[in-house]
Amino acid sequence: MKNERIDVLIIGAGASGAAVAWSLAETRMRIVCMDQGEWMSPNLYPSTNRDWEARGLRDFSYSPNRRQRPTDYPINDSETPIAIANFNGIGGSTILYAGHYPRFHPSDFKVRSLDGVADDWPINYETLAPYYAENDRMTGVSGLAGDPAYPTKEVVMRPLPLGKSGATLAGGFNKLGWHWWPSDSAIATEAYDGRAACINLGACASGCAQGAKASADITYLAHALRNRVEVWPRCRVREVTTNGNGMATGVVYFDADGIERSQSAEIVILACNGVGTPRLLLNSKSSEHPEGLGNSSGLVGKNFMCHPYAAIYGVFDDLIDTYKGPHNNIWSHQFYESDASRGFVRGFIYESIRGYGPVGTGLIGTALNRIRWGSKHHDDYRRHFNHTTFLMSICEDLPDETNTVTLDDELKDSSGIPAPKIFYRISENSERMLNFSIDRATEVLIAAGAKDVFSRKPIAEGGWHLLGTARLGSNPKSSVVNEWGRSHDVKNLFIVDGSIFVTSGGVNPTCTIQALALYIADNIKRRLANLFD
Ligand SMILES: Cc1cc2nc3c(=O)[nH]c(=O)nc-3n(C[C@H](O)[C@H](O)[C@H](O)COP(=O)(O)OP(=O)(O)OC[C@H]3O[C@@H](n4cnc5c(N)ncnc54)[C@H](O)[C@@H]3O)c2cc1C
Ligand code: SF4
Repeated sequence: MKNERIDVLIIGAGASGAAVAWSLAETRMRIVCMDQGEWMSPNLYPSTNRDWEARGLRDFSYSPNRRQRPTDYPINDSETPIAIANFNGIGGSTILYAGHYPRFHPSDFKVRSLDGVADDWPINYETLAPYYAENDRMTGVSGLAGDPAYPTKEVVMRPLPLGKSGATLAGGFNKLGWHWWPSDSAIATEAYDGRAACINLGACASGCAQGAKASADITYLAHALRNRVEVWPRCRVREVTTNGNGMATGVVYFDADGIERSQSAEIVILACNGVGTPRLLLNSKSSEHPEGLGNSSGLVGKNFMCHPYAAIYGVFDDLIDTYKGPHNNIWSHQFYESDASRGFVRGFIYESIRGYGPVGTGLIGTALNRIRWGSKHHDDYRRHFNHTTFLMSICEDLPDETNTVTLDDELKDSSGIPAPKIFYRISENSERMLNFSIDRATEVLIAAGAKDVFSRKPIAEGGWHLLGTARLGSNPKSSVVNEWGRSHDVKNLFIVDGSIFVTSGGVNPTCTIQALALYIADNIKRRLANLFD
């Protein structure tokens, strides 16, 4: 029943909100997870129809500004070379994610000690290891044991097939003697936990109708619902409310009919991602919190990180099945750890992407002048389609207080709530790393037999990873939440999404986001008796 007091109110039903909801369910508290989006119907995903690629540019676009669903909010991304990508729905951005699922390396938690940059995390790899393992089981991660890039870890099921593109690229890495390994993927290669195995439809990033890709709606939330967690779709939260004692009292939100409502709660947990969470905190200003809720450090919305990417394409003589199968197949961690001789600190992974379908091939080929208009068009197209595979480098983005999420002065969502504005610049360090990654990937592709190699950087539509805007730390002056995710300022307010990252690592973040959410949930459970002392 709405309006009745609830114990735990989670805002955001994406990767982290779903994980924390599932973990807390065993307490038998009354737990409600609100999201502005709605439940997705897999039978309506683009992959069920022939226009699947075109719909990825419309109602399943990565960009909320392009998608413009009633459940989306606009984002002013005119001041960033990398546009924000997300999805607002039950399952959050995991509805669209590709399911590349690497963990952080142990070194990622101590970059200040190792490299003299940014800050160390208040926790380390060993702290998260049991939560990584639990998250792997809940998610159903496919992979191959023994990857020398990581400390020993169990795998849940066999890896995705390399396919012709993966085997070709692996051959290139082998010739150079560089690391590669089948990727860990949040995609089931066998029937798992009520989900069917991947059937290689190849449309993972516009929703997996097969249910093989582990979006949070069909993993954590399916279990959470059975354990009496309530999910309230179409609830768009405007602000977190507080009382004179400095505690959160609940939220003000708009329901599906646009009616303003309030909901009280004992504990409020934010899981709105690295853009949505600072937006909500900044929109929750009050006389006690004039700079925004939980913002005594002044760091809410600062240190925004989003991983600059480069894509390096190779065109091969052979047909290499570029559109058959999930995007992921292999990765390389060869250049992950710092090496001063390279001219930058920290590093990156390569993730290989099998390639594009017919529309994607045409769009990228024409944009990069590889597929010309006019009399050569068909020949060019034939040479590229099903012949082009690529590597993407995910470059570690270091925190910089001048990269920010703030509130736009004019732009508002359809409920009249101020929209976020992004200011982001690619650092000199990242720029050098991007260039280095393009040069090395070119060597791999040529060693693998590519006849033509071309690249682009940064991937302008690729703001997929939203991190750092409400960081973890033990010092209230230099962090927004403490080492177990509780606001330094508001004792019954927690943050579990990507905003709490201290540094970004050079890998996709969702595996770590979900492990952190489980770790924070565990801390809440263990400390319940004296949570607010
Ligand atoms: C196209 C694409 C591909 C990606 N591929 C990968 C990949 O291969 N590997 C990887 O690790 N990561 C990938 N990502 C990123 C990954 O999806 C995110 O890291 C992850 O989902 C973030 O989890 P989160 O819980 O922080 O936020 P999200 O999953 O984004 O969930 C946030 C939720 O909060 C809700 N919300 C926000 N504000 C409000 C409000 N005011 N009121 C109510 N609800 C609100 C939103 O509707 C949303 O559902 C990809 C993302 C995209 C878009
Ligand atoms: S390739 Fe596999 S994971 Fe991707 S959409 Fe198809 S069935 Fe789902």
